[in-house]
Amino acid sequence: QKCLSLIKKTKFLNAYITVSEDEALKQAEESERRYKNGQSLGDLDGIPIAIKDNFSTLGIETTCASNMLKGYVPPYNATVVEKLLDQGALLMGKTNLDEFAMGSGSTDGVFGPVKNPWSYSKQYREKRKQKPRGENADSDWLITGGSSGGSAAAVSAFTCFAALGSDTGGSTRNPAAHCGLVGFKPSYGLVSRHGLIPLVNSMDVPGILTRCVDDAAVLLGVLAGHDPKDSTTVQDPGKPFLLPSLTDVSKLCIGIPKEYLVPELSSEVRSLWSKAADLFETQGAKVIEVSLPHTIYSIVCYHVLCTSEVASNMARFDGLEYGHRCNIDVSTEAMYAATRREGFNDVVRGRILSGNFFLLKENYENYFVKAQKVRRLIANDFVNVFNSGVDVLLTPTTLSEAVPYLEFIKEDNRTRSAQDDIFTQAANMAGLPAVSVPVALSNQGLPVGLQFIGRAFCDQQLLTVAKWLE
Ligand code: GLN
Repeated sequence: QKCLSLIKKTKFLNAYITVSEDEALKQAEESERRYKNGQSLGDLDGIPIAIKDNFSTLGIETTCASNMLKGYVPPYNATVVEKLLDQGALLMGKTNLDEFAMGSGSTDGVFGPVKNPWSYSKQYREKRKQKPRGENADSDWLITGGSSGGSAAAVSAFTCFAALGSDTGGSTRNPAAHCGLVGFKPSYGLVSRHGLIPLVNSMDVPGILTRCVDDAAVLLGVLAGHDPKDSTTVQDPGKPFLLPSLTDVSKLCIGIPKEYLVPELSSEVRSLWSKAADLFETQGAKVIEVSLPHTIYSIVCYHVLCTSEVASNMARFDGLEYGHRCNIDVSTEAMYAATRREGFNDVVRGRILSGNFFLLKENYENYFVKAQKVRRLIANDFVNVFNSGVDVLLTPTTLSEAVPYLEFIKEDNRTRSAQDDIFTQAANMAGLPAVSVPVALSNQGLPVGLQFIGRAFCDQQLLTVAKWLE
């Protein structure tokens, strides 16, 4: 009840697209009944959880924040949603995002941008008084980061205890860093993608947003496991994932990738990064500089592969099977074209166009195949570093703290938004687990997160180290 009333109070954040109040109350009653009857409870009985609106939910509208899917009500639950419900979780609603999870700001969905709850925090407002207010007070707020910004705002504003995001290039970790949360992207293949509406099938992973690392481990325990409906899931996830309460870091080797020290990195994040490294060192851990030499190709490579998979994935939205269909009936071709023009925003259309360009017969070898080779080199960089004895890598999550909306939407900042994924994308290309943990507040009174990247399927070790720092 408390969470539901907070959802109403914080409606202006635009975190939720759909609030599933009736479902949540019914599930809560059932949990209570089980509890009173002395029945055994699931790991999440009575725990309010929100779901990003790109996971299919039985009987609840699933839009991907796109005109294309407005009004679409899936006939099935994503496997992860089913698993949450099986363990007694209360489904609070579906959260806002960039259209089809394409973006890093949560500013590009058809339901409008998500506002960062920290914009209204006492710390930030006090600092801001010294500065002139923006021209348009209505836009005088900070972005959440994205694309799972609705999920991050929902957890950060205490409307739920945890939320599902999706992470293709950083979409869970980026908003977690900007909203002061833990944002965890498990190893590719550990958690089922069945029912997660795809962006880039070879990189998509359901993500977990929580207020502490232990909560993320509990959720991973619920979600991980083989799913016959997702052939990329592993047979043995290596459960349980619960974390030790005390950790000795003195036997650890922490790698600091030198290529991540980019000129665009804010001096504050940079200094918090080095402070964290020092902290490990003073506790006896070995902290060494390492090299991931193909990092500089990461953004370009990601974009060729992402747009190519997008071009292929989006072909299913043709006006016949799901969601939107325009009124034109002169020809099938004209109907397809008008439906897609009306249904997708310019970011999605732009990616479809780029992807189809890279996949043209005459371009395929030069772009798509080459990008796949570069992806392998990027993945091998990690293998080499981990084979040399490094246990986890410590990096920034984002270039800076959350920026004001007006600054973010400036045309030339679009490049910056792509640039912002620089620390997160490579883990998706290599399928590695990665987690962002909040470490401190900036001078502006805003949260800053740092990222750990671990060996494939060593998710528990990764979370254990992250818990030590949090
Ligand atoms: N910002 C990246 C993109 O726009 C990542 C998105 C994501 O992880 N869903 O593709």
